[in-house]
Amino acid sequence: MAAVIKETCVMKITDIKTHMMRVPLVKPFRISLGVITHAVSCLVEVETDEGIIGYGEGSPGPLITGENLEGTVETIRVLKEKLIGMDPRDIEAVYTVMNRTVAYAGTAKAAIDIACHDILGKSAGLPLYKVLGGLSNTVETDMTVGIDEPGVMAEKAREHVKAGFRVIKTKVGVDIASDLARVKAIREAVGDDVKIRLDANQGWHAKEAVELLNRLNAYDIELVEQPVPRYDFEGLKYVTAHSCVPVMADESCWDAKDALKLVSERAVDFINIKLMKCGGLYEAKKIVNIAEAAGVECMLGCMAEESGIAINAAAALGAALKNITRADLDASFSLTELPYEGGFTIKDTRHLILSEEPGLGLRRLKEEMLK
Ligand code: MG
Repeated sequence: MAAVIKETCVMKITDIKTHMMRVPLVKPFRISLGVITHAVSCLVEVETDEGIIGYGEGSPGPLITGENLEGTVETIRVLKEKLIGMDPRDIEAVYTVMNRTVAYAGTAKAAIDIACHDILGKSAGLPLYKVLGGLSNTVETDMTVGIDEPGVMAEKAREHVKAGFRVIKTKVGVDIASDLARVKAIREAVGDDVKIRLDANQGWHAKEAVELLNRLNAYDIELVEQPVPRYDFEGLKYVTAHSCVPVMADESCWDAKDALKLVSERAVDFINIKLMKCGGLYEAKKIVNIAEAAGVECMLGCMAEESGIAINAAAALGAALKNITRADLDASFSLTELPYEGGFTIKDTRHLILSEEPGLGLRRLKEEMLK
């Protein structure tokens, strides 16, 4: 047990406010698990006795995490009771209290974790990417195409490439014949210089996945996310061992313990980290470190329902650490309107350039969009 040294510089959490947000997407988005029509999020403001306010976001992805908005708000209320009076910059202490108060609940914990990191940056006078490691201030994101008819997907992919994206992520996971047609149409539409990554969202069985991926390899596939159900660890391992296409764990990797099991048994080639799965930047850093020690690179992803505040935090981590080599941080491109001002700016359509303002660099929440 570490010695307890008397704190000489204490900031205190005085309140945690929650705001519910529901904004329609430009177009409904289909994955193998279902259809997403709205960005749905709980935005939080962690207030302190020094007047610094930290912004955070918990966006429950019901198809992935099983959480919902009302439950997330209620969990944050329960956590708030334990966190009032704590120093929000003591992230280890905050996280320890959250874990002792409720198990799982990654979305609620992520909202508070992100806000505490925002406060940490503001308190230090540093942008969050510098607090987290500072390797760079930029990440390049891919753009995702939801499941549709092959011709429709190919046209969308062509539009995204024309707009400036260099990596197209394609949702698959329906059946062998139609998935082959989707990927073939997209490759023919985008040409040879664009990377294509796939996401099956648990849609295949292991042997089916291997057969399909070995045929899809003709279309130069960078990697495939989550080919088999999240609980089918042996299946994931089988696909990784037998497929020509590298495999990335998404739904199979929730936290650092999952990451340790996956990399130590060589069950995957890459890991996709999402703040809503793992509960925020605190746990995400552990996953990155475990993966790096095993020679496994990470991607930072997001829930399709996110508003962009959590994406600012994820992008800061992605820019800060060298073992995060890929980003799938495109959800906020699909919103009809963002519920905040400030944060990252976009360059050449695909680069997120992080704010140099302290913390996340968000200036305000648009209260007219919240309730
Ligand atoms: Mg995925």
